[in-house]
Amino acid sequence: MKGKRVLITGAAGFLGSHLCDRFIKEGFHVIAMDNLITGDLANIEHLFKLENFEFHHHDVSKFVHIAGELDYILHFASPASPIDYLKIPIQTLKVGSLGTHNLLGLARSKGARMLIASTSEVYGDPNVNPQPEEYWGNVNPVGPRGVYDEAKRFQEAITMAYHTFHGVETRIVRIFNTYGPRMRLNDGRVLPAFIGQAIRGEDLTVFGDGSQTRSFCYVDDLVEGIYRLLFSDYAQPVNIGNPDEITIQQFCEEIIKLTGTDQKIVYRELPQDDPKQRRPDIEKATRLLGWTPKVARAEGLKITYDYFKSLSQEALAKIEHKDFTTFNK
Ligand code: NAD
Ligand code: UDP
Repeated sequence: MKGKRVLITGAAGFLGSHLCDRFIKEGFHVIAMDNLITGDLANIEHLFKLENFEFHHHDVSKFVHIAGELDYILHFASPASPIDYLKIPIQTLKVGSLGTHNLLGLARSKGARMLIASTSEVYGDPNVNPQPEEYWGNVNPVGPRGVYDEAKRFQEAITMAYHTFHGVETRIVRIFNTYGPRMRLNDGRVLPAFIGQAIRGEDLTVFGDGSQTRSFCYVDDLVEGIYRLLFSDYAQPVNIGNPDEITIQQFCEEIIKLTGTDQKIVYRELPQDDPKQRRPDIEKATRLLGWTPKVARAEGLKITYDYFKSLSQEALAKIEHKDFTTFNK
């Protein structure tokens, strides 16, 4: 793959930055694009000195121009945490719709293969568990999560249309909750929320009674799955996630044990439309890509906690926790 050119959008974000690292390691020329609305250049700062890396500060919801050849596009630009997409709902809808349209047009004109980052949120608050790709979901289009969920569903639809109508080579990954270094401590997602609270010596906020479930995948496993999917010949959606499902109450207790905090758990109102259960059916990823997750939660959580602890006191002090339930009012 040496010298092949890949455009990665959302490159300064959590997942985008790990993808940049992987494609650089594989010998690609990486064109990173981000408007920094939720991302941080610190995530990719170490790549700026490389000859086979370039950064474009650009909003992909506006026309995207890339000079020269392009072999692959990975579209990862989008706010991804409930706090972020509640704060910037219109931008969230635009990057999933207009942004995806612009990038599909670019893929078509360059003859590039494009992979889009979809999400388990397309299943909404699912009535079947685990969720196979054939499940169509249970989504509230006008609830607070609708701006994200429907943008992602539209993104899948337009991607499939470009594939069938224009013959663009496309791949769709449905990503389940993923965690690891470079998550933002204040992005409101449950893992940085709990670890941030433990580090700051605050009580840990479980929403609802904590009986809702999630299944957490370590970022390296996700990146491996995405890499394999991109180079597969499969254009239908594929779930990538770790099927090890736990309740949020259990997860909170694991974080308390990991961090050794003596703070207690406090219970807050469950946000509207918060999915009650979530677990990927990964039969397709295993059969088609030979992929299964390798990193157990205990191991991944330790690496992630060590990362958060390594941030400077100055950086930590700047981070104010935003509680989703109070933000939502
Ligand atoms: P993130 O917020 O860390 O990264 C998103 C990046 O996209 C940020 O750097 C942001 O600045 C950039 N961005 C947003 N809008 C943009 C625009 N209009 N133009 C250019 N850049 C823009 O989030 P993440 O967790 O890395 O998520 C990346 C992708 O993966 C998203 O598409 C998200 O929907 C998807 N996803 C993530 C998860 C997860 O668990 N992390 C789960 C499902 C899907
Ligand atoms: N959650 C929680 N406390 C927090 C933040 C989140 O109990 O401080 C819960 C949230 O209600 C949800 C789960 O943790 O049930 C995962 O939330 P997250 O925002 O990480 O992702 P998503 O709901 O999109 O899976």
